[in-house]
This record gives sequence, structure tokens and C-alpha cells, in this order.
Amino acid sequence: MSETLPEIQYRLEQVRRVAGPLPGPRSQELAARRQRAVAAGVASSVPAWAADADGGIVADVDGNQLVDLGSGIAVTSVGASAPAVVARVQEAVAHFTHTCFMVTPYEGYVAVAEKLAELTPGDFPKRTALFNSGSEAVENAVKIARPHTRRQAVVVFDHAYHGRTNMTLAMTAKVQPYKQGFGPFAGEVYRVPVSYPFRDPEGMSGAEAARRALLQVEKQVGAENVAAVVIEPIQGEGGFIVPAEGFLPALSAWCTEHGAVFVADEVQAGVARTGEWFAVDHEGVVPDLITVAKGVAGGMPLSGVVGRAEIMDSVHPGGLGGTYGGNPVACAAALGALETIEEWDLRGRARRIEQIVREELEPLAAQTGIVGELRGRGAMMALELVLPGGTEPHPEAARAVAAACLEQGVITLTCGTYGNIVRLLPPLVIGEELLRDGLRVLADAVRRAAQ
Ligand SMILES: *Cc1c(COP(=O)(O)O)cnc(C)c1O
Repeated sequence: MSETLPEIQYRLEQVRRVAGPLPGPRSQELAARRQRAVAAGVASSVPAWAADADGGIVADVDGNQLVDLGSGIAVTSVGASAPAVVARVQEAVAHFTHTCFMVTPYEGYVAVAEKLAELTPGDFPKRTALFNSGSEAVENAVKIARPHTRRQAVVVFDHAYHGRTNMTLAMTAKVQPYKQGFGPFAGEVYRVPVSYPFRDPEGMSGAEAARRALLQVEKQVGAENVAAVVIEPIQGEGGFIVPAEGFLPALSAWCTEHGAVFVADEVQAGVARTGEWFAVDHEGVVPDLITVAKGVAGGMPLSGVVGRAEIMDSVHPGGLGGTYGGNPVACAAALGALETIEEWDLRGRARRIEQIVREELEPLAAQTGIVGELRGRGAMMALELVLPGGTEPHPEAARAVAAACLEQGVITLTCGTYGNIVRLLPPLVIGEELLRDGLRVLADAVRRAAQ
């Protein structure tokens, strides 16, 4: 990628190849079987069925090679079969698949907790609890904040996404497809405006946006009732919204002042995705609790809450846990993934990916008139598509772009409250040539959608 970044050896050839129309015949057979066996509520955005994946390539069952600009939603940052992850998983699984940490504990869990304490911001004693999914981590962060503060209210933001369990659905903003028909949702969750520079009044600073949100909290909830303020430092599903500088520090300071727990939901933006270990690091913000999942274990299901010892330890013994939380094989994968991020300087690669994305996609705004904004950090970048000349969301264009990319063998994802965002979450190990190839396909698709 650049001379200073370590060379990566790939198992699969890193080239895009589309043999025929997608989906191919084997994928179509599997889709027919799926319809008779899998619940309709579980949907997939790519019609090609996976057979193998490595580096920036997902190979399908019909011999096509797709460029992966999604990483299975920000999970396979180290690749879908990173050697260190594969080796550690194989070693772990050959000994024991499970004992349950709440029954017979094992070292891997502690090693992951030690590593997360070292990598997360904050020079104070920390504790970690491990779970399986991002939703579970967020839900547990709320559980932990309540007995610590002896308060109940949870403050969340417009466009937030925190998961699909009942508590986290209350915290998630968007009704379709996440919440529709699934209520009633958990109580004591209050939503306030986020900082969304593209849609906020021109020139609104982060501090002003924080005042707007916190005044609403003070008047409608009461500062003395707030157990936790939970925010994604860069919103994921809500549209890759990067708050104005100063917004996160102001929220954090308010929490300290009023005795509320400041929780950064780093499930999507964390673990090197944005070019720093955590997205809050870009502004030197030190949350009380951080939730991690997605990219932390190289594709194995693992999540955690990491934070200040006095907050984490305010829960009584036995109050936290779960049968599979911190599964030994998933912990082994996490140790392999974190080691890979360090050895291959994947934070450096994330920053390089941002440069390349900006180089390839920046001209689109002037060329097409439908790119309202190219934004993001590191390998978490997005195009917000709008109707020409304004800010009105253009979800049809986002859908058309994603579909056109797929036809050419490039996996992209859409997101956003208005469905008008094309987001890029490539594996951090993707090679420069393959990345540029995928981005050029994307750029062509945007130009065509504008015609
Ligand atoms: C994906 C996501 C979650 C939920 O994670 P799951 O593993 O799908 O339960 C929570 N918060 C954020 C910010 C996410 O991106």
C-alpha cells in the first residue's frame, strides 16, 4: 500500500471476477432451499452465496470473486481468514470448545480483558465483561450504569443504532426494518438530537449541538435522573454521521459534572476501523464505559464492555454473564485479531484507505450533483446521496448504486435513517489495487445513477 506498511500474503487471488450473471446457478439453488427452511424475517443483501473469503475478496459458490467493501458489516477488519485468527482458533478448539466462564474459568478470557484494558483510552483501573453480540454489550452497559448510579434514565440520540434486542431496540432510532411491530419497547429511554453537520444549521459547532441536546435532557429528563448517555462516536447504521468537533467532549464533560455514565458504543467504529484503536481517540475523549464487538474477534462472535473499575465492579457477583459470554474459541480469535492489527499496522492501513477513498471519490460531488457529502474516518467512509442541488435524501440512488456495484462484483452496503447513504467498510487488509478497482466501479455507478 505504501512502503512503510507491512506486506500481506493472501491465500486467494486478490482480483475481481464475475463469470456470469449474479446470482449464478449454485447460488440460485441455495436461495430456493433457503426459502423453504429459513425464516423470511432474516434477509440478505447480496444474492451470491459465500464459499471462501480472504483479504478483500469474497468468493462465491459459482466461482465469482467479489470485492468486499462491507467486511460482513465491519467485522472482518483483519480479513475473514486471517492466519493468526485461524491458527489460534484451531489450537483452542482442539482442546475445549466451552466450559462456561461462570463455571470453570480459563485464561483466554482474562487475556482479552487485559488487552482491552490496555488498548482503550483512560489511564485508570479498568474491568471487562465479555458477551456474544454488540446488542448484548450495549444492554449490559445499561445494566451496569443503573446500579452504579442508582438512576434509570438512558439518553440516546437521533439516528442511533444500538442493536435488535428489546432494550437496544428502544435505543435504536429507525423503525423500518428494525422496530416495526416489535413493541412495546423498554422504558426510560430518551432520544435527543445528535450533531449532524450536513443537516444541522450552517456553522453549528459541536459545543452548540451538545447544548441543544443537553438542554433537552435537562428540561425533559432531569440531569439527576440520567444513569447513562450512550452514543456511537461515529454513527453506523444511522448514516456514518461524524459529529462536529467538540460534541463528544462536551457530552463527556456533562456526564462527569452530573454523575452520569458516559458510554461510547464503539461496536462499529472501534478496534482500528477509523485509524485509531477507538473512534473517541480522535478527540481524546475518555468514556466511562466502551462497548466493543464486530471487529474485535476476526469474525467470531464476541463482545465486551470495558470501563472504569469502580463502575464495572458496582454490580453484585453473578449479576453479569451468560452461558456463552467470552467463549474460549472466540477469545482465542480476539487475541489473534488484536495481534494482527498490531503486527500489520492496520490502523495505518485504515488511514491509508481513507486517503485512497478520498482520492477516488472526491471528484464525484462536482461531477454528479448527487453526492451531498463524502465523509467518515479511516476505513469507515460513506457517500450521502441527495437530489441534485439540495440536501433532500435520494434513497433510490443509493439502492441503484449498490445494485450496480453488485452486478460488477463489488459488495457495498447502504445505510442511513433515510436510506440514502452508501457506506464503505472494507477489510483493513484489502490491497490498494483491489480497493481502487472496487472504488472505480462504485464511482461509475454513482455517475450512472445521476444521469
Ligand atoms: C452492529 C451494532 C450493534 C449491534 O451489534 P450486534 O452484534 O448486531 O448485536 C450495536 N451498536 C452498534 C454501533 C452497531 O453498529
